[in-house]
Amino acid sequence: MADGTMTPPLPEDARSALKAAVGDKGWYETEADMAPYLAEERGYYHGESPLVLRPANTEEVSKIVTICAQHGIPITPQGGNTGLCGGAVATGGVLVNLGRMNTVREVDAINATMTVEAGCILKELQDKAADAGFLFPLSLAAEGTCQIGGNLSTNAGGIQVLRYGNTRDLVLGLEVVTADGRIWHGLRGLRKNNTGYDLKQLFMGAEGTLGIITAAVLKLFPQPAETTTALVASESPDLLSALLGRLKKATGDQVTSFEYIQRNPLEAVFAHIPNTQDPMQEVYEHYALIEMASGQEGVIRDLAETALGEAFEAGEIIDAVLAESGDQAAKLWNLRESIPEALKHCGPSAKHDISVPVSKVPEFLKKADPHVQAAIPGCTIMAFGHMGDGNLHYNLVMPKETTPEDAERLRHDVPPGVHDIADSLGGSFSAEHGIGLMKVHEMDRYKTDIEKHLLRSIKQALDPKGIMNPGKVVP
Ligand SMILES: Cc1cc2nc3c(=O)[nH]c(=O)nc-3n(C[C@H](O)[C@H](O)[C@H](O)COP(=O)(O)OP(=O)(O)OC[C@H]3O[C@@H](n4cnc5c(N)ncnc54)[C@H](O)[C@@H]3O)c2cc1C
Repeated sequence: MADGTMTPPLPEDARSALKAAVGDKGWYETEADMAPYLAEERGYYHGESPLVLRPANTEEVSKIVTICAQHGIPITPQGGNTGLCGGAVATGGVLVNLGRMNTVREVDAINATMTVEAGCILKELQDKAADAGFLFPLSLAAEGTCQIGGNLSTNAGGIQVLRYGNTRDLVLGLEVVTADGRIWHGLRGLRKNNTGYDLKQLFMGAEGTLGIITAAVLKLFPQPAETTTALVASESPDLLSALLGRLKKATGDQVTSFEYIQRNPLEAVFAHIPNTQDPMQEVYEHYALIEMASGQEGVIRDLAETALGEAFEAGEIIDAVLAESGDQAAKLWNLRESIPEALKHCGPSAKHDISVPVSKVPEFLKKADPHVQAAIPGCTIMAFGHMGDGNLHYNLVMPKETTPEDAERLRHDVPPGVHDIADSLGGSFSAEHGIGLMKVHEMDRYKTDIEKHLLRSIKQALDPKGIMNPGKVVP
């Protein structure tokens, strides 16, 4: 068991009923067939399940959950299995992977919405929206693998939150199989609907602990007519903060991404990712990758150039590269998006996904850096992330000689101190990756008694038998 608890074996009558519910193409039970669904990429956890189910439609999901509810069998929902907190790791019971439910049911161009099934791959939805002349703005490095059901269930963030919001903000309606197997048909494409509690919000960010999301109505946006991408270098995060304010004002809030990158993670990319090189002549400590977009052509580039010129004069930036083509912009983005892959080659690490108010990002770094240097002498700080949203992936690579045992210990011992610093600045210990198995103890630490009471009450009301993704999220 991934969480160390014991689950009863799957009763034979339940196993047969579950297999019959999904038909021959919808289940795996040999170790080899189940292996890809039980693996967790970074090896922090290993899932355990006697049966992997891959339903083809909502009715099959409903049958699965009904049978599991009758027998008290735990269910772990799974999308693309790219989550970074162990939420999709099966801890006994059945694993329900939504990958076969990948139909786009409708694109409504007038309502600017798209109704999609939970198993659609995010990149394919972006392409589908583009084919219809729209933008679906959710974008993150795992977009070629993660599924919209997983994005909704983790309320994923990504690189365009600054302009379009988190996944929650991109949804008008949901279809959900509740923990007793009933189907909630909430696929409304309404932009106004003040009829009591907003039920869909409960299931988003719930990481599969309240029900299984089977479909969603997503908002679509106009494609930007012009996009400008720039990599800038600066002497400090404070100065980059000032630059963010300047650009927002100068462009009329058309900054879509403002990504902070320290030199160290950039060096890791040059060292480990083929076909990458430094686009600047000099070496600097702090960078920001910035994207600005506008609905009209011939506007944003001029505004950006003027504002960056003023930022030079004000000393906020000391170097800049403006992409001259889509290809150059893609190369700059490749540097940012390759960081997680590059860091895998750097040795054992401790990771944090914190957020603070945007204005407090520089202060967080000033306080966290000496703290972690004392906690892990000789560690390399690899900070990068969505500075425009106040969200940093504050990663620490441990010295090469760190033993696996020490690495494991430090991975548990160091984050609480970093989370305390974020907390003291009014921040959060989990900005966009969620809670899963990994951060349940931090929920216990940081949530107030009233918050814990409300969380447990919601869980009890919607999943009284406690079969939906047990051990995750709720402390
Ligand atoms: C390289 C890389 C970059 C990343 N960048 C970002 C980033 O910028 N921003 C960000 O927010 N995340 C990021 N992530 C994390 C991850 O990609 C997201 O959390 C993503 O939204 C998870 O989608 P998934 O389909 O893989 O979900 P999974 O990992 O399969 O599941 C995640 C959680 O959702 C639940 N779940 C999945 N599908 C359903 C469903 N249909 N109904 C109910 N519950 C369900 C699971 O039980 C689990 O708790 C990144 C990951 C990687 C590997």
